[in-house]
Amino acid sequence: MTDSTLHATQQFIPKIAIIGGGLTGLFTATLLERAFTNDNANVAVKSKSVVPNIVIFEKSRSVGRLATRYCTDSATHKNWQWAFGAQFFTAKSNDFQQFIKPWLKTGLLQPWRANVVDLIPSYDAAQNADIQAKEKWSSAQARYISTPKMTSWGRALADELAHTTIKFKTRVAPLCNEHFIEQNETKSKTELFDENGNSLGNFDWVICTAPNAQAVELMADSGFKELAKISEAQMQACYTLMLGWDKEQPLPATLHTSATLWDVAYVQNSLLDRIFIEHQKPAHDTLLPSVTIHARNDWSERHVDEEIEVVKATLLQAAKHALSWDEDSTPSQIDCHRWRYAATLKQPDHKELGILVDEPRQWIVSGDWCGQGNIESCYQMARQTVAKICAD
Ligand SMILES: Cc1cc2nc3c(=O)[nH]c(=O)nc-3n(C[C@H](O)[C@H](O)[C@H](O)COP(=O)(O)OP(=O)(O)OC[C@H]3O[C@@H](n4cnc5c(N)ncnc54)[C@H](O)[C@@H]3O)c2cc1C
Repeated sequence: MTDSTLHATQQFIPKIAIIGGGLTGLFTATLLERAFTNDNANVAVKSKSVVPNIVIFEKSRSVGRLATRYCTDSATHKNWQWAFGAQFFTAKSNDFQQFIKPWLKTGLLQPWRANVVDLIPSYDAAQNADIQAKEKWSSAQARYISTPKMTSWGRALADELAHTTIKFKTRVAPLCNEHFIEQNETKSKTELFDENGNSLGNFDWVICTAPNAQAVELMADSGFKELAKISEAQMQACYTLMLGWDKEQPLPATLHTSATLWDVAYVQNSLLDRIFIEHQKPAHDTLLPSVTIHARNDWSERHVDEEIEVVKATLLQAAKHALSWDEDSTPSQIDCHRWRYAATLKQPDHKELGILVDEPRQWIVSGDWCGQGNIESCYQMARQTVAKICAD
């Protein structure tokens, strides 16, 4: 017998593969473990006595679209740091609020009470951008960040998994119908392979949490029942600009002379969307001045195949108009990242897809894009997945 599908007492131990080690994958593994060990206070599912054998396959070296880049200054040994994927997340639902509580207690997650403004860039070198106070994120509108980095929470979630193996740098090859073996109740049903054709094992359930376009590739020739629905969801790109200033350098006028103190700016009349001041976030005050700017998704999508250096130059020009820097206050650190699959376009009827299930094969397609395309959706989709598996 292979893959420990049965142990000495002949109990059936389900094997579950999760493709993707982003937050959807990590939340799914966490909730599955809790559901099967009765530690499922906020998961409304029927628990079972045998803890499944869970494996997460992640093609990269770390957790998904939560991303932090940093750079150390050789003189000060201090860091510039940019959360160049998700900047913060919401917890609007009661169950997600309960879920995040332990990490809020330890301080790994913290509320971000940011001062938010509208910013209209100035195209006149003699004038600074126009800044108007918009709102302050408070407990009524709570936004949370992970500290010291946005990636810290993903790492903590991974470390706390007790019954899950994470295989980084393992790209799962597209599924195909021949790898689905319909057998009796106690036998695994799907054999997964890596991109070199090596077997990754047999699994009772396969949960795909890849971004939408990658899920289409993985499922295209598999006979997955809900394939048409995967293709329904659309994602847009996002370019992210990361800027840093030296310790002794003057900061651009809009960052330090504005009458309105601000942490987050919604940029108007620009290809830029939002500006985030990293070193003003909670527990980030030891950083060197660091600013992350997301371009608008529609603009990014139109320029998604352009040379990154050309895009970077265009974004820098727009950032200069927004932050109003001169020769002395030009950023010393400049980097640009292209996200091909950043934002989920809303369905015309504003309905969420929800997880997609192929019952006979026991395949589930999930991910933030099955919901609203944000971190809270990752949790909701994980919850739906666990409810499905536990109800079976
Ligand atoms: C620029 C940007 C800004 C954002 N801002 C916010 C925000 O402010 N608030 C918010 O809540 N959300 C925000 N988001 C969205 C948030 O980051 C995502 O909702 C969340 O990270 C998605 O997690 P996921 O696990 O569903 O997908 P991912 O993080 O994409 O994880 C999927 C994983 O699957 C892996 N994978 C794919 N194919 C394979 C394969 N064949 N084999 C193995 N592994 C595979 C990928 O490498 C990836 O790690 C933002 C995203 C971006 C890009």
